[in-house]
Amino acid sequence: MNRFPKVCDRCGDDISSTGKASTMSKFNTDIICMDCKEKERKHPTRALWCMAGSP
Ligand SMILES: [Zn+2]
Repeated sequence: MNRFPKVCDRCGDDISSTGKASTMSKFNTDIICMDCKEKERKHPTRALWCMAGSP
């Protein structure tokens, strides 16, 4: 909960050095970039199976 990774948990994009905003996934405690957040918002089911381990 308190960890704050430097990279997006979803796509591995560098969050800290690029100054990208990050947020927490609605589905789990992943810290994700806004790009992934947007994808998650648009395609919640896709985001879910991505988390299941699919590339
Ligand atoms: Zn991302």
